[in-house]
Amino acid sequence: MKKTYLVLYLLLLSAFSLKAQSLMSPESFLGYAPGEAFTPHHRVVDYVQHLTENSSNAIYMPYGKTNEGRALQLVVVSSEDNLANLAQIKKNNLIAAGFESGEISGKHLPIVWLSYNIHGNEASGTEAAMSVLYSLVSKDKAAATNWLNDMLIVIDPCENPDGRDRYVNWYNQTVGKTNNVNTDAWEHNEPWPGGRYNHYIFDLNRDWAWQTQLESQLRKETYYQFLPHVHVDLHEMGANSPYFFGPSAEPFHPVITDWQREFHNIIGDYNSKAFDKENWLYFTKEVFDLFYPSYGDTWPTYQGAIGFTYEQGGGSRAGLGVITNTGDTLTLKDRLTHHYTSSFGSIEAAYAQKDRLLTEFKKYFSDAKNNGNGTYKSFVISKENNEGSIKAILQLLDNHHIQYGLVGSGSKIKNAYDYMQNNSVIHTPNAGDIVISTYQPQGKMVRVLFEPKPVLVDSMTYDLTAWALPHVYGLKAYAYQENITVAGKVNHSFTKNSQEAEKPYAYYFEWNDFTDVQLLSQLLNADLKVRYALESFSSEGKNFERGTMIITRHDNRYISDFDKIIIDAANQLEQPLFTSTTGLMDQGKDLGSSYVRFIKKPSVAIINGDGVTPTAFGETWHYFEEELGFPVTVINTHDLDDVELSNYQVLILPSGSYYRYNSQILDFASSGGKVIALERAINLFSSDSGTALGQANAGKEANKTEEKKDNLLKKYGDQRRESLSKSVEGSIYKVYLDETHPLAFGAGSTTFLMKRNATVFPYLNNGGWNVGVFKNDSYTSGFAGYKLREKVKNSLAIGTEYYGSGDIIYFSDSPIIRGFWHSGKLLLANAVFLSGQ
Ligand SMILES: [Zn+2]
Repeated sequence: MKKTYLVLYLLLLSAFSLKAQSLMSPESFLGYAPGEAFTPHHRVVDYVQHLTENSSNAIYMPYGKTNEGRALQLVVVSSEDNLANLAQIKKNNLIAAGFESGEISGKHLPIVWLSYNIHGNEASGTEAAMSVLYSLVSKDKAAATNWLNDMLIVIDPCENPDGRDRYVNWYNQTVGKTNNVNTDAWEHNEPWPGGRYNHYIFDLNRDWAWQTQLESQLRKETYYQFLPHVHVDLHEMGANSPYFFGPSAEPFHPVITDWQREFHNIIGDYNSKAFDKENWLYFTKEVFDLFYPSYGDTWPTYQGAIGFTYEQGGGSRAGLGVITNTGDTLTLKDRLTHHYTSSFGSIEAAYAQKDRLLTEFKKYFSDAKNNGNGTYKSFVISKENNEGSIKAILQLLDNHHIQYGLVGSGSKIKNAYDYMQNNSVIHTPNAGDIVISTYQPQGKMVRVLFEPKPVLVDSMTYDLTAWALPHVYGLKAYAYQENITVAGKVNHSFTKNSQEAEKPYAYYFEWNDFTDVQLLSQLLNADLKVRYALESFSSEGKNFERGTMIITRHDNRYISDFDKIIIDAANQLEQPLFTSTTGLMDQGKDLGSSYVRFIKKPSVAIINGDGVTPTAFGETWHYFEEELGFPVTVINTHDLDDVELSNYQVLILPSGSYYRYNSQILDFASSGGKVIALERAINLFSSDSGTALGQANAGKEANKTEEKKDNLLKKYGDQRRESLSKSVEGSIYKVYLDETHPLAFGAGSTTFLMKRNATVFPYLNNGGWNVGVFKNDSYTSGFAGYKLREKVKNSLAIGTEYYGSGDIIYFSDSPIIRGFWHSGKLLLANAVFLSGQ
């Protein structure tokens, strides 16, 4: 702050001292004008609390704490009268949507929800939010009283406090006495992993639908209490870009209504007018499409709101000020002022359309309830699927207030799309299967989540283009063009395992879903000794598949409470246990056989740091920490030279570049370690002539001269199409599995992977196992360029090779992408716990 400003500011402060005593502006509360510094999150909390304590127009609603213990909070702004009746107003809105029964009584108000800073290092958002809040409650705009009388305005000043503080703390440590606008300066070059992500290095703006992260789960709970009519998610992008606001770019998902499109134009008009007045540059419609359902614009849109992404140029490269490519200085103050302006443009637009927002919102849900939506009107999940995967998908449906039930008997419907086979079949739903119909308030979301092949209007989307839930969960399921009515409730029942009078010789549990992995993890953590069956067997009249877990009394004879530990763990996870009183099998290998393999509890290390894709590391870390509860050691690439890798049995390489650590990693494998290389991490081995993959790859490269010649003659004007033809934006591929290999145990003969890696790997020959492969018909849904589609045919998806006295396991694509790809969680566990044991 310059001195002259400071004097001026103090004069102003004293002139308004009466007002300042109660409700303070961000400047008077924080001690600096908005944009002069980045505000640490605890100070944001202080200010928001101050504001709500000193205003009768704002209510403080904390909605939980982040992984690092920071407060997640909302402020609800409206008239005193509305806030006194908040419960009824919220209820009325849920009645209007059909989420609750009853009649609307009293006011039904439009709800505008503004969310800031979901990407932590897009840090102008939270600074803007404080100013927006102050303006609203101090009513410093002429129309404020009207807005507050006729609307609820909900503000989430910081959706990602952990990520934001990671950035802000770092910035405040690196900036000098005055900030430096030169991009070479330390303060403009944020270190790995960057504040964009939350604690577990997830991109929260890819997680709205899947809700794998704590912040998303907590936000969803409060979101469904309000169910807003307009949702704006405010972001930042590269510092050289002008401002972006709606209308969004194509593709728009087909469930998006004409009204939702129209309101995109309306809000665009309000914002452009406000920006024109200041002569600020902006653009619309070019990027940021509305397709992938897990963003802060699409997800609310599919819940009946009109959702928006706004983007200010800035982000972590911008700091307090930065020189842009046109020679201008972009300041934090500029950035937050733009966000402030578009926030009010949105509020104004919503106010102007307040009645229509309500009627169209109601219609959004009632249309689906009365008419269903899409070509396929109902989706059926076979009761033959394993219990764990069914439970997992039903949890996601519950989270979305999606209704489902049981198929009745006597169904005559026959034509269906079969998700597993990826084609049309004759199939009749069976009594007891689970049906999810689009004839319900959330019918459009049902379509979004289940539609086998969503239609892309334009292939230029910048994200995943397919996500049908039966593929995500690996479920036998069918889509029908007819509506199938629900005949009964799904009753979940679990018969608890109990101690048997005669102590069993061994316990067994089946291995076919991630819940089984969780049980294994708990038992290994309790130091129980567990084995697994390499071959199927039958014991005391029951058949057991390959991969069945076996816990013998003999192995665990020194564990006190052995029976109790295993029974309690299984009951907590609702896993049925089986027992036998003998080691002699009816069929198959006896329990003492070498075909019943001992699982040595592995010491697991995951590599992170420079060169590693942050979110690829994040999803792996979260998998062990939060989902599996199995200990891991995270090792940074900087420390690889000094770490004794031989202390670990399993080394996981998330997608990334590892060439600099070539010798450490290969030495680890050759001296008996197991390396699990995911996605781009495979390149290290495919370019090494010492691996089977490298040798196979060398053979493949030799045949590529024709294609290269072809490339030289490409046209400049075709470059976009040319690059699209070789790209994949996240599409679903069927993988054919070798069911006899432990890497595939429990997954059946086929599974599905989300393909994002455009590098294709050949089949392994010398000393390798091609456990999962892409065949001619593997392409299932989503966008994949025509050239790439050809290349992927007959290539490697999942493989393993012996290397020295250790082994290397390859996954061409992440089996657990973004933490939501349920079926792959078992495959990754096979790699960690079974393969090579
Ligand atoms: Zn962003």
